[in-house]
Amino acid sequence: MKGKLYLVATPIGNLEDITLRALRILKEVDLIAAEDTRHTLGLLNHFNISKPLISYYKQTEKNKSEILIKKLLDGKNIALVSDAGTPGISDPGEEIVKLAIENNIDVVPIPGCVALINGLIASGLSAKEFIFIGFLSALKKEKKEKLEELKYETKTIILYEAPHKLKNTLEVIYEVLGNRKIVLARELTKIHEEFIRDDIKNILNNIDNIKGEFVVLIEGSKESKIDIEISNLNNKTLEEHYEFYEKQGLEKKEIIKRIAKDRNLSKNEIYQYFI
Ligand code: SAM
Repeated sequence: MKGKLYLVATPIGNLEDITLRALRILKEVDLIAAEDTRHTLGLLNHFNISKPLISYYKQTEKNKSEILIKKLLDGKNIALVSDAGTPGISDPGEEIVKLAIENNIDVVPIPGCVALINGLIASGLSAKEFIFIGFLSALKKEKKEKLEELKYETKTIILYEAPHKLKNTLEVIYEVLGNRKIVLARELTKIHEEFIRDDIKNILNNIDNIKGEFVVLIEGSKESKIDIEISNLNNKTLEEHYEFYEKQGLEKKEIIKRIAKDRNLSKNEIYQYFI
């Protein structure tokens, strides 16, 4: 019988956040694949768990995935853990999951901590809809391009950032997105846990020597791309407005309805104009 691949979430700071199920799985599996075996050994020792460990980190993900798949096919149960939080979320995991699915191996998520979700729920920003972009590129050009894409994103934007790059990243966010409301969720679940809630400009003035781990949460744009397109259309002629919707393949009746709505006029007024 094939083994199972367990994706086990571990704490992001406070060791009390490990779940009972995660502990049971870590005790039961044959092998634990860990991003940094020394780091995971510390966690295992704390909970008196002794298991063979194999390293599984970004640079070796492909090669190690193949080795682990062979073991799973041989019937071994394997737990994958990262240094902190949920494997696969800005951490290695994706490769082996894909390969396991291709080989009809059961993939079992063992839920637990994930920094972005804990940052979001306490941020005070809208948690109804959000977009997570992981780490931005370290290259300024790529960083700017990604943020440009998000300029009219109305959902809360969440990203991860290393402490030494935080200031520069906030400067680029300010440059591209303007002075939005942001939240820095710092050192989640740890002794110095803190939520810094302010606009980017004020935050930039006060974070020179800031330390720790951060989730950065940015308020979504007040106007979507469509809102802006519509307000631009309202400055154009009715014919140009009509043409815009016609190019989208809409029927005359629907076009008139939309123009009336965009311009806050009655459908009849628009209809009369076009005859
Ligand atoms: N897999 C992890 C998860 O489930 O959240 C994320 C791993 S990623 C390599 C590390 C980044 O997550 C950090 O740079 C930081 O942005 C964020 N992070 C991890 N732990 C955190 C904590 N305790 N407080 C705030 N941010 C944290």
